[in-house]
Amino acid sequence: MKEIKYLFSEGKKLALTFSYDDGVEFDRRLVERFNHYGFKGTFNLPTSVLGRPGYVTASEVPTLYAGHEVAVHGYHHPFLERISRTQMIGELVADRQNLEAMVHHPVTGLAYPYGTYDPEVVATLRALGFTYARTAGDETGNFRYPQDWLVWRPTCHHHRALEFIEPFLTSKYSLTVLYVWGHSYEFDREANWELVDQIGERLTNQPQVWYATNGEIQHYLECIHRLVFTVAQDAVYNPTDQTIWMAIDNDRVLAIESGKTIRIE
Ligand SMILES: [Zn+2]
Repeated sequence: MKEIKYLFSEGKKLALTFSYDDGVEFDRRLVERFNHYGFKGTFNLPTSVLGRPGYVTASEVPTLYAGHEVAVHGYHHPFLERISRTQMIGELVADRQNLEAMVHHPVTGLAYPYGTYDPEVVATLRALGFTYARTAGDETGNFRYPQDWLVWRPTCHHHRALEFIEPFLTSKYSLTVLYVWGHSYEFDREANWELVDQIGERLTNQPQVWYATNGEIQHYLECIHRLVFTVAQDAVYNPTDQTIWMAIDNDRVLAIESGKTIRIE
C-alpha cells in the first residue's frame, strides 16, 4: 500500500495566512508591508463604517485589497448571537452584497464580529452558503485546520506570532497552517509596527510556504477531500477546479490537474 500525503499548492507542505478586521485606515500600511513580503491576507469589513473618518473608503477597496481577500464582518459589526435571526440575516446579507458590489465576485468568507457566535448563528451561515467563518479569543496554538470551517480558530493573535514561526517552519507534517489574526490599529496603538517586519523578514520567501488568503486555503482543502481514488490506490480522479498536489511514498510529488484522472505508479 502506497503512502500518499496531500500537499498544498505547488507541492508545498506549509501554508501561511492572515486575517485582519474592521477596515481601519491602518490597513493601508499593513497591506503595503504584506505586499512587500509576499503575504496574503483576508480583510473583514463591516461596510457601514467605510468612508467614515479613520476607515478605508468603499471606492479604494478593490485596489487596496487587490491580491488579498475581503470577507464579511456584519454590516454594523453586531454580536450576531444577540440579535433576531431576521436582523442577523440582514446584517450578513447586506455586508456581503456591498462587498460583492465592490469586488465583483462572490464573497463567502466571514470573521465573527467580536469573535462570538452560537449554534443558531452557525446554522444561519451554513444556510446562507458561507464557506468559512473565523473566530477570535479561542486561538488553537497549533497548526491544524478545522473540522468545521464555520468555526475556524486561528493559530494565534499577531502579538504571539513570533513564537510560532520556528515550530511552523520546521514542522515535519504536511498541510500545516499558520493562521495569524489581529487588527491593524493595534500596531499603531501599541507602537509596534516593527513586529510586522520581524514577522515579515522571518517568513518571507520560504520555499515550503504557500502564501494564501483564508478563502484560498479553505477551498483547496475542501477540494482535496473530493478526490476519488481507486481502491487499489493506483489511480485518482480530480473532479475539482484546483490542481491538487500529493507526495507518494515520500519520494515524489504528483500534481493532479482539474478534471483529470491519472495513474499512480
Ligand atoms: Zn471586528
